[in-house]
Amino acid sequence: MVAMRTARKPFKACTNCRYLVPHDVGKCPVCGSETFTENWSGIIIVVDPEKSDIAKMLDIKVKGRFAIKIGV
Ligand SMILES: [Zn+2]
Repeated sequence: MVAMRTARKPFKACTNCRYLVPHDVGKCPVCGSETFTENWSGIIIVVDPEKSDIAKMLDIKVKGRFAIKIGV
C-alpha cells in the first residue's frame, strides 16, 4: 500500500539550517546540529547556491535538499 499523503515523511529537517536528512542520520552534515524536526513543509533542492535566488532568500549556502518551512 502506498499512501503518499499520510505516509511518514522520508526526511527530517535540521531545525538550525533546514537541511533535510534521512531519519537514521543523527547529526546535520551541514551545520553539525543534532536537533531535527518532522514538522516541516516544502522541499527546495539547491544545485547551485551561488546562482539560486531562492537559496539566497532562504540563506542557503550549500548544495542539497532543504525544507522551505519549519514548524507551523
Ligand atoms: Zn543543519
